[in-house]
Amino acid sequence: APSEPDPSCASAPAPLAVLGRDVRVPLATGGEAGYVPLDYAASAPALQRVWDDVAAYAPYYGSVHRGAGYLSQLSTDLFEQSRETVARFLGCRPGDEVLFTRSTTDSLNLLAAALPAGTRVFVFETEHHAALLPWERAEDGEVVYLPAPHTPEQAVALLDTALHGAPKGPKLVCVTGASNVTGEIWPVRQLAAAAHRHGARIVLDAAQLAPHRPVDITALDVDWVAFSGHKLYAPFGAGVLAGRADWLDEARPYLAGGGATRTVARAGEQVEVEWHRGTARHEAGSPNVVGAYAIASACKALTEAGFASLVTRERELLARLRDGLAAIPGVRVLSLFGEASERVGVLSFVVAGHDSSQLATDLSALHGIGVRSGLFCAHPLVRTLLGSEPDAFGECGAPDAVPGERSLDAIRVSFGAGT
Ligand code: PLP
Repeated sequence: APSEPDPSCASAPAPLAVLGRDVRVPLATGGEAGYVPLDYAASAPALQRVWDDVAAYAPYYGSVHRGAGYLSQLSTDLFEQSRETVARFLGCRPGDEVLFTRSTTDSLNLLAAALPAGTRVFVFETEHHAALLPWERAEDGEVVYLPAPHTPEQAVALLDTALHGAPKGPKLVCVTGASNVTGEIWPVRQLAAAAHRHGARIVLDAAQLAPHRPVDITALDVDWVAFSGHKLYAPFGAGVLAGRADWLDEARPYLAGGGATRTVARAGEQVEVEWHRGTARHEAGSPNVVGAYAIASACKALTEAGFASLVTRERELLARLRDGLAAIPGVRVLSLFGEASERVGVLSFVVAGHDSSQLATDLSALHGIGVRSGLFCAHPLVRTLLGSEPDAFGECGAPDAVPGERSLDAIRVSFGAGT
């Protein structure tokens, strides 16, 4: 792999400018190279526009919802306007709430803590751990794990069958929009239709979808959406949970503390609390106004640029990546839904006879290319794809597995705006 971009390969320019394009890194050979960030699925570089917006605002920030001073008022306005920007970005319905959290993980844990008692949660075993694990913590609930499907249609059929046989009571489906391992796009609209047909609600883990495709809560007809700012080209430790207010308004506040309360009074030996409803209920403590503002700035930048140019560029890069990998003996691209499936700019592979983590280390040390190796916080999925565990359909390994090959982990290449 060349350590400098090859101008003869240049096609459509990157749709949006990101930070860090000129970073040079030392190589193990003694020289240096321009850094090539290909780990957007973990954390994407921030957009220049987001950085500029934050830099312009940073000298003026003050406490949110907690001060009469001019800067407190300014920050409170910007925080609430950021909520509205995110609501527009996600195509929210009237009455939907946008909560600022720390991340997708935090958003899904918040929803898990807000489920009505006895909720049965349906989740594919292929999910990222952030979408797989929070539901076991829900009060008096039950988690139904669905096996790895091999086509989008099979995913819908599996969910339909599981919901059909489920007893009465509150039900929630949690599904990813795009896999952080294979990049494959899941049939969200059809899964939402299946969920609603059986009286279940659905939350979309859009951590990997939102940076690459429009996510419209109304058009997809999902009940909630969760995503992370740091994967959507905005840094600063903030995330979003957006969607229906009713379960959230009925639930115990996610965090107990200032800002979530209307009144607190001593009542004999106890303290009596009246909690807010609405967004304040689950946002106790001083909020991350810079993080929320950064997310809103990224939403605006993506909306103004439009996803069309991003998607065109991403498809070109994916095609080049696949052609390049196809020319290397022993490479197997990981896929659940098959070669022709639609992907975002995320792709994982193994190379027969090579250790993935060593290859990833070499890409960095010898070429300045930053990728990730491992099981990508989706252990059941990667093990199924690598063939180290038989799947629920009795197949051991993906259909195109290299005979005899049993890698312990894989390499992931991921990119997006700015690549
Ligand atoms: N869901 C998916 C599909 C992800 O890829 C990730 C992170 O990689 C998460 C959830 C968790 O995101 P965060 O680490 O920002 O909470």
